[in-house]
Amino acid sequence: MAHSYDVIVIGAGPAGYSAAIRCAQLGLHTLCLDRWRSGEQPALGGTCLNAGCIPSKALLESSQLYQTLQQQAAQHGILHDTLRLDLKQMMQRKEQIVSHLSRGISQLFRANKIDHLHGDATLHAEHHVHFMDANGHETTFQAEQVILAPGSVPTELENAKWLEQRIVNSAGALSWEQVPPRLGIIGAGAIGLELGSVWQRLGAKVTLLEAQDQFLTTTDRQIAQQAQRALQKQGLEIRLNARLLSCQAEPNDGIKLHYEDGEGKHVLTVDRVITAVGRQPNTDTLFSSEVDLQLDERGFIHVDRYCATSLPGIYAIGDVVRGPMLAHKGSAEGVMVAERIAGQQSELEYQHIPAVIYTQPEIAWVGQNEEQLKTSATPYKSGQFPFAANGRAKVMCESHGTVKILSHADSDRILGVHIIGPHASELIAQAVIAMEMEASCDDLTRMVFAHPSLSEALHEAALALDGRAIHLP
Ligand code: NAD
Repeated sequence: MAHSYDVIVIGAGPAGYSAAIRCAQLGLHTLCLDRWRSGEQPALGGTCLNAGCIPSKALLESSQLYQTLQQQAAQHGILHDTLRLDLKQMMQRKEQIVSHLSRGISQLFRANKIDHLHGDATLHAEHHVHFMDANGHETTFQAEQVILAPGSVPTELENAKWLEQRIVNSAGALSWEQVPPRLGIIGAGAIGLELGSVWQRLGAKVTLLEAQDQFLTTTDRQIAQQAQRALQKQGLEIRLNARLLSCQAEPNDGIKLHYEDGEGKHVLTVDRVITAVGRQPNTDTLFSSEVDLQLDERGFIHVDRYCATSLPGIYAIGDVVRGPMLAHKGSAEGVMVAERIAGQQSELEYQHIPAVIYTQPEIAWVGQNEEQLKTSATPYKSGQFPFAANGRAKVMCESHGTVKILSHADSDRILGVHIIGPHASELIAQAVIAMEMEASCDDLTRMVFAHPSLSEALHEAALALDGRAIHLP
């Protein structure tokens, strides 16, 4: 007889572990199955924690500190004779953070009495889940409800196949032992820009080949243009409309990238390549052929707005379903599904999910951008404030960037907030709160923001909407 649970969660990334913890909090007997291993060790936390958001942010932080000390220490009156990079230590710090946080999830599972096992899980008919551990032992579990949270995997390019340490995906680029002198990156999306920033700050000459003819196509145009200028000024070379034709790894360690743009064909020689051209749903071996789960045309599991699949009692959340591939979107879906299983009427406001790109300056937004408002013929007003006029940004030596608020021309309701600048990832949360509470721009203008703080830029942008910003001429 199959071992029985109220809920089985497949996948322990941010979507799966949040779902499991919320299920357990609500009194549901929960099992979470995951196959991730870091080296020989089983590790909870999925891509985000082990090979994505957390290790990349650790390296972004370290590399930024290195660059700040190189470029700004003297301005602050801090002089150093020799500043050297200890890449091994930087990598060790990153690994310690990852393993600490992964152990933290194990502890949360224990505290919430969640059973978890490491190995491969496959959904079969009648809510049966076949599980095989690393030693090949098989068990069958069964549950009233099954939540699928298997995440996504990097897309491999046919004409630039991964090759050991030389042509890698995002995970491979988080543990190089040396700084590559010349780094080529295919794809100038979030991953390309973040990893490009890390290695550029550590000394690599970074060139990004981006197939689109516009930079950051889903970002507000004005913000994207500011970002492109700022990143190029830092030394990232961004070549748009660049279609990769082939990638040739030479025996002497160089790699030739053959590509074509509006001006013709080119060859770029680099030492390492990162392919960052998107990710795809990780559904291989997730369910057996007798499970008639509906997929969409791109291979994502089809779900309704509450993450229910086409099969009763089977849910799917996170990167494997429609919507942005973002850890916080997956966690929020996990919590929503757990609460709905427990009989609550939870919903998720997809319009208010923020997006962040952790470059320097950071780029963050929530809601609609100007181009989308124009396309839908929505009447809107725009208010902007530059960090150059914000005292706190000035003292931080980070006065590059803008806060832009878009509100409905009639109701004044906030429709979108777009930020490029220091701590944009933190500031955007204020916009999320305001939009979720259905605040108007005028509401924001009537609130008092601490001085000096970066948040004042948001306040001033709201004031600027009616020409009332105090610190603008
Ligand atoms: P992406 O879709 O964000 O960007 C991929 C880029 O590669 C696109 O601009 C695309 O035009 C380009 N591209 C595709 N094929 C190409 C080709 N053959 N040649 C040149 N360019 C090509 O994907 P990503 O950066 O790989 O990230 C994957 C997912 O992970 C995304 O959904 C992203 O949002 C998410 N992610 C988010 C964050 C964050 O929130 N900070 C960080 C990393 C990843």
